Amino acid sequence: MSELITILSHNLWLFSAIAFIFAAVIGSFLNVVIHRLPVMMKREWQQECNQYLNEYHKELVAPISKKLERAIDDYPEKYNLIVPGSACPKCKTDIKPWHNLPVIGWLMLRGKCASCSTAISARYPIIELLTGLAVAFLALHFGPTWEFACATLLTFVLMALTGIDLDEMLLPDQLTLPLLWFGLLINLNGTFTSGSDALIGAAAGYLSLWSVFWAFKLLTGKDGMGYGDFKLLAVFGAWFGWQLLPLIILLSSIVGAVVGIMLIISKKLNHGNPIPFGPYIALAGWIAMIWGSDINAWYLSTL
Ligand SMILES: [Zn+2]
Repeated sequence: MSELITILSHNLWLFSAIAFIFAAVIGSFLNVVIHRLPVMMKREWQQECNQYLNEYHKELVAPISKKLERAIDDYPEKYNLIVPGSACPKCKTDIKPWHNLPVIGWLMLRGKCASCSTAISARYPIIELLTGLAVAFLALHFGPTWEFACATLLTFVLMALTGIDLDEMLLPDQLTLPLLWFGLLINLNGTFTSGSDALIGAAAGYLSLWSVFWAFKLLTGKDGMGYGDFKLLAVFGAWFGWQLLPLIILLSSIVGAVVGIMLIISKKLNHGNPIPFGPYIALAGWIAMIWGSDINAWYLSTL
């Protein structure tokens, strides 16, 4: 094992190429997570809702649960991240293993289902490609180290969170909270920052956006963000320490404003429509992971 690590650390481009392939394959699974986790969550909510109605408002059960069922009954009863296998949403033909190959599968099919020619969204290969490139870059940046393994795991979960937030305006606790605890644990021995900076970072990350949320709500009566956004910022505080939080907030606001203005100009977004903030925090946090300390040092030295 240690010999292999020595070889890879002397051949970073080889390591990076292996990392790319591995991450693209995981990216293909992340597409499944992005698509299915929200469906699984909605099912759970429906069950909880039914339970509540059965206990307290029996007269409402029949009409409401019919409506709820109709919203998600397109999916088979047993439905999780593994079962059933991937199939075309239109003609239900199973997708062949070689068509599941990241990026290549989509190119082989030329973006269409093999049997009914329904278009397959370009988002699938894009997510596979982005995941592969991001992790290949991490491989060059960190080399074959424990930091690389952690940063790769973080990148995978961030990719899933970004996709789900774009689709559903949701950042599931099932993804943010384990990431938060994991970040606190790996910093007990100072993987990215000291344990105390990580702990303060987690609390400060959550509480800063939480305060902004309540100030905004008291002033305007509107919700500007969701609780998932606070938790995601807490994740970055836990992973990289409180010192990077101002930079992450600044970067995500800049990127968010630029994208928002572009969307308004291109008329894809009306003023006042909610836009998910999670993807911007995720991107800003990822950039801060790589260059945050450098940017902070540069900023402090120019002061
Ligand atoms: Zn089809």
